[in-house]
Amino acid sequence: MTVVRTRFAPSPTGPLHLGGARTALFNWLFARQQQGKFILRVEDSDRERSAQQWTDAIIEGLTWLGLNWDERPYFQSQRSDIYQDHLDRLLEAGKAYRCYCSPEELEAKRKAALAARRKPKYDGTCRSRGGEVPGRRAAIRFRTSDVGQTIVPDMVKGAVSFDNSELDDLIIARSDGTPTYNFCVVVDDVTMSITHVIRGDDHLNNTPRQIQLYQAFGYPIPHFAHIPLILGPDKARLSKRHGATSLLAYRDQGYLPEAMVNFLARLAWSYGDQEIFSADELVDKFRLEEVGKSAGVFNSEKLLWLNGHYIRQSDNIQLIKLLTPFLNERGYSTDRPDWLGKVVQTLKERAKTLKEMADQGEFYFLEKIDYQPKAADKFLKPQMLQPFNDLVKKLGRLPVFTKENIETVMKEVAQEHNLKFAHLAQPVRVALTGGTVSPPIFDIIEVLEKRKTILRLNESINFINQKEVKAEV
Ligand code: GLU
Repeated sequence: MTVVRTRFAPSPTGPLHLGGARTALFNWLFARQQQGKFILRVEDSDRERSAQQWTDAIIEGLTWLGLNWDERPYFQSQRSDIYQDHLDRLLEAGKAYRCYCSPEELEAKRKAALAARRKPKYDGTCRSRGGEVPGRRAAIRFRTSDVGQTIVPDMVKGAVSFDNSELDDLIIARSDGTPTYNFCVVVDDVTMSITHVIRGDDHLNNTPRQIQLYQAFGYPIPHFAHIPLILGPDKARLSKRHGATSLLAYRDQGYLPEAMVNFLARLAWSYGDQEIFSADELVDKFRLEEVGKSAGVFNSEKLLWLNGHYIRQSDNIQLIKLLTPFLNERGYSTDRPDWLGKVVQTLKERAKTLKEMADQGEFYFLEKIDYQPKAADKFLKPQMLQPFNDLVKKLGRLPVFTKENIETVMKEVAQEHNLKFAHLAQPVRVALTGGTVSPPIFDIIEVLEKRKTILRLNESINFINQKEVKAEV
């Protein structure tokens, strides 16, 4: 039995986009499911547009998602000899020819065709030209069949047929000698024994040309699966207008790789109405043949929802690790892992991203709380002075600072001052966090610990007193 081999073949000419990441994921899922191999091939043959920075971003992005590749990564820039050898083979067999037409001549013909309302197409001038044209360097063209049809058997789209008369004699090497995309892809896929070419359907139009190249070499064609594009909610191709399109931007905003993998898999594929899938489950349940023909629509709300799910599900040790860069970025120390475990425990129920978690947890780390003006106006009032003072005393006397003890004390103080519990809790919340929204009050007091809690209550007492003095003068 042949071993399944898939490949992800990004061009390192910009950030790795969500669409590319999903292509990588589908290739990875299929390879893992079939106990095959997943190959990473960096298509950096366009030296001018390719940059190391983007290769690094591809590797970082795949690593972040957990899409591990087999063998070493391949680079087209290191494979010139293989391409040259294949170019020579086609030339010797008469299946390719040297084309001496200059760019100006080609442009003039193109314009003439457009003016005559014909589809511009290479007119075959050099197909039968014998010998060289002095002073000109030749490009190499593939002698494309121009009669009949080429059928692309596609695992997603079904059989798609192309009229060969629509296909040009493709340039397979430029006049500077560098081979072109369609040619390199075929040579690479064959020499890397790729069995399944899974890629975005923006490449579907290239496939009949590639099939003709396979045939010219006498190579068997692989299976093809062209997966639909990702669209924005307005059904236009996903672009910056719809939010970040770069994969790593999502990591930097605090999304978890599990959420992203789950999200990407569900774009253009489904399994009943199940929404949550671990990577292992996807490997098991994903079916290439069941990828939808129509484009998946990017839904940022769903991604957020999934992310919230994976945050809640993560254990605290893992969350601390994930949250650490976001806290360090804000200048907060992360050297008390036991305490941080308690911090994340209080935050994980509400936060939808790690960034949100860091924002919502900032009050734990601050030395001094800045009150939100509206919250302070409404809740830090003179009638809270007595209850706050009592609270300071009673909390200060607690031998162990546990949630249960804190609850008892707060309830006592509320009762002694004839306050509904919420009428004590909300001002305390403002005193401790600066705002009116936070994790449950006993939890945050326990995590803030005695020293900080008392310090903040005392600060809010001072704040109320000063406000009163100001109001009097
Ligand atoms: N390098 C191409 C791209 O980034 C992909 C080629 C392929 O998958 O065949 O779009």
